[in-house]
Amino acid sequence: MRLIMNVVRLENVSKEYRIEKQRIEVLSGVNLVVRKGEFLAIAGPSGSGKSTLLNLIGCIDRPTSGKVFIGDRDISNRSENQLADLRARRIGFVFQTFNLLPVLSAYENVEYPLLQLPQVSKSERRERVQRYLEMVGLKDHARQRPNELSGGQRQRVAIARALVIQPKVILADEPTANLDHKTGSSILQLMKTINNLVRVTFVFSTHDPRIMGMASRLVTIENGVLVQKNVAKRPAEESS
Ligand code: ADP
Ligand code: MG
Repeated sequence: MRLIMNVVRLENVSKEYRIEKQRIEVLSGVNLVVRKGEFLAIAGPSGSGKSTLLNLIGCIDRPTSGKVFIGDRDISNRSENQLADLRARRIGFVFQTFNLLPVLSAYENVEYPLLQLPQVSKSERRERVQRYLEMVGLKDHARQRPNELSGGQRQRVAIARALVIQPKVILADEPTANLDHKTGSSILQLMKTINNLVRVTFVFSTHDPRIMGMASRLVTIENGVLVQKNVAKRPAEESS
């Protein structure tokens, strides 16, 4: 038996966008391995390609050249339907603007991705929604709609929604950018606690230096290539 510890692998990945005759090369020759259980930050200023990179990892977009592997599988030749199925089963997403459905309660928002997975029974569904709402500290807010929750609470709902499919990896694109620093830190701390508790792999992007220090590994995007950084240890946050 072979143990597959790589959750994601990018092999010489480049991405360019074309607008009319203009080409914008955002990523060039990127190599990245994300291992199971990592808590990885992708940093870089606005426009550096963080969302582009996360969209490639999340199989939302395809590279111009190079290969993306999810687990040990090269996804290059997958159809759009196959990629949608892969995302629904394997990849959790958390967004800067939460992206909750406003007419649904917290409970229903968390339940929503499971409605796409017929192999999850009704009782298992209920059990999972309750478990993950409790994990993010929102057991008592299950019936509230997004506009009845604070920004931090909304992002907690989004994290529970990402967890409920029991994904291989959760991709969080600037999850704290719409939150004040204190709330943002507590969201990152929650993600880190969950990372330790259920060993789900997290990859998150940020341009906030105060958040980067909470990562177990930090890479930055500089002129289209990834640069590995040393993570500054910050004792005050390490101990909590
Ligand atoms: P970040 O998330 O770090 O702010 P992005 O990945 O969103 O950066 O964008 C990187 C660069 O690619 C920017 O110059 C942006 O304008 C450009 N870009 C992103 N998406 C598209 C697109 N769909 N079409 C054309 N250009 C794009
Ligand atoms: Mg972005």
